[in-house]
Amino acid sequence: MVANKHFDLTVKSPGRINLIGEHIDYNGGHVLPAAINLNITIRFKKKEGNVCHVNSKVRNGFKFNIHEKLKPKSNNHWANYVLGVIHGILKLRPKQLSAFDCEIESDLPIGSGISSSAALECGITFGLNSLFNLNLSKLEQIKIAQKAEHDFVGTKCGIMDQFAVYMGQEKKVILLNCETLKYELLDANIDPYNIVLLNTNVEHKLASSEYNNRRKECERAMEIIKSKYTDYHHLAEVPIDVIKTLENELDELVLKRAAYVSEEEKRTINASIVLQNGDIIKFGELMYASHDGLSNKYDVSCPELDFLVDYSKKHNSVIGSRMMGGGFGGCTINLIHEDYIQSYIKSISVAYKDRFNLELSSFKVSLSKGVSLIN
Ligand code: ADP
Ligand code: MG
Repeated sequence: MVANKHFDLTVKSPGRINLIGEHIDYNGGHVLPAAINLNITIRFKKKEGNVCHVNSKVRNGFKFNIHEKLKPKSNNHWANYVLGVIHGILKLRPKQLSAFDCEIESDLPIGSGISSSAALECGITFGLNSLFNLNLSKLEQIKIAQKAEHDFVGTKCGIMDQFAVYMGQEKKVILLNCETLKYELLDANIDPYNIVLLNTNVEHKLASSEYNNRRKECERAMEIIKSKYTDYHHLAEVPIDVIKTLENELDELVLKRAAYVSEEEKRTINASIVLQNGDIIKFGELMYASHDGLSNKYDVSCPELDFLVDYSKKHNSVIGSRMMGGGFGGCTINLIHEDYIQSYIKSISVAYKDRFNLELSSFKVSLSKGVSLIN
């Protein structure tokens, strides 16, 4: 990568974790994410002409004409994350972009549920907003990034990832109501435990298609619920007792999905309360219950994730563990006592290798500020 001085500005865009509240954002409930100290770094430079070059250290670069109508590329090309946000920006700020180049490097694992995708979308959005003085509000930028993933990538993601990438702050978790977008920054009182991500290094190939399927299943549940109970607008707000009254109306699969969502919403609210009260042991129990629901009711786990969570239950140094992100691979998020992190990682890595013949990678993460400019 060329030295900083050759660029007009540099953006650091973080990945995110989510402590609890998985698959809840698109169901209108609460989530508990935070931005972390792993980042995508993007350097931008304005230039003459029409053609923009975008390069990444880990993918083939691409170019496009900033003055021609942008369309998604076929076959999951990573350009879609970039072209999608530019398309979204141009809708709100027509004619305000001109040619630029950018270079991307990253210490975020890709496809591991830490949302390298949102880090990329948000980093590009934030960088172009600054480079061209677009004056887009944070919320406008968050929505541009989310919509890029819907329209250009084809994943109907909720708003959590982009929100966390923009709104994260050091040592804070974000209790976000995904419906109203009201949020609170909470202190993460987790001493003497640390947050450690364990990456299965299984890429979540099914994630995008199954993600969209789960959305449809939840929409189906909501159609039936609304036909009986007019007060409810989002699945996350429907109490489990109400869902149970629909045993004959909802098919078995949809009933399981709805039960998971209702219970996970309750767990997330509960978790935010116990976190503020400093009851970290209870918080960990809620993480385990979340994993159980994701694995057995929402069916988005996989043998590798289940293995890591089960293994942790036999070790007192770990008080909470669950899969994080869309599922079918990626990372678990773990609360591990600070004195035992290295020894625990060593033993679980050996066990994981024995069982799956795969390497485990680990990241001790700290909670960090959201997307920003660096010098
Ligand atoms: P996650 O968001 O959990 O990391 P996704 O499958 O949602 O996984 O997003 C990963 C995709 O984001 C990659 O396949 C690629 O298209 C894009 N991406 C992420 N980081 C980079 C990068 N550094 N360079 C190019 N593309 C990237
Ligand atoms: Mg993603």
